[in-house]
Amino acid sequence: MEYQKILNTIQEELSYRNTTGKVASYIPELAKVDPKKFGMHLYCRDSGHYSIGDSKEKFSIQSISKVFTLTMAMQLLGESLWERVDVEPSGDPFNSLTQLEYEQGIPRNPFINAGALVIADILVSNLKNPKTDLLEFVRKITGNQEIDYDLTVATSEKSTGYRNYGLVNYMKALGNIKNDVEPILDFYFHQCSLAMSCEELANAFMLYANGGILLENGEKILSTKRVKRINALMQTCGFYDEAGEFSFEVGLPGKSGVGGGIVAIHPSKYSVAVWSPILNPKGNSELGMAALEKLTTLTGFSIF
Ligand code: GLU
Repeated sequence: MEYQKILNTIQEELSYRNTTGKVASYIPELAKVDPKKFGMHLYCRDSGHYSIGDSKEKFSIQSISKVFTLTMAMQLLGESLWERVDVEPSGDPFNSLTQLEYEQGIPRNPFINAGALVIADILVSNLKNPKTDLLEFVRKITGNQEIDYDLTVATSEKSTGYRNYGLVNYMKALGNIKNDVEPILDFYFHQCSLAMSCEELANAFMLYANGGILLENGEKILSTKRVKRINALMQTCGFYDEAGEFSFEVGLPGKSGVGGGIVAIHPSKYSVAVWSPILNPKGNSELGMAALEKLTTLTGFSIF
């Protein structure tokens, strides 16, 4: 398969395409990003690396970080985790407060904000230095010791993160948050501020494409059952309330973030990350989704 040729075709075809969406601006720092940025990196298990555009430039991974924190929480808590967060697609906006009210403070899934905040609470309860441990985990699975938080982005989100404060306070009132609100949000704003490139994200997510084994050294990090579950959650809940459309168009498990990044995997074949900051009305990268649709169509490799 001529993967580099396929990526070049995608870049060429998307360069003619007009976008209609907007860059996320509710986190002030994200509004400063150049909307024309576009990068993509494909990491194939059998044949290596292919890339186009700004694939080595770091951006704010935002909600993509929720896959890393979920992984850590699953390793720490095992099955009891699912008493505090459900595994159903939300069908509501990612930061909805209404849904929490009628579901008594149990978030629909770990990838909406409420769910990720419960996961953050669990990591704060169970780890002495959750921010350091998260960095260590991400650096290990990416094979890159330089990955770090972007403190300007974390501070920027803290200054306008009223809805997230609202979600944690509300869940605390309903008994599903154990720690003080501040350390949970401090951790959450840091995890969302992780700065990574498409290349680094594709490297990190090879873990989920490769059955929980680090491709670089063969180390088994995650059980087969846990990888299956994380990938299933990415398939059903990874794209805000557009997970159905993403399955329909692209056909891969993955996760997107409001920084314009999308990462997706084909179990046993490849991981891929794409970045373009302009978001569609549901919050997914407009060109990112189009690029992945072309990738699975041109290669014939979706999971369906
Ligand atoms: N930090 C963002 C928030 O909580 C993450 C949102 C996202 O990427 O989906 O609003």
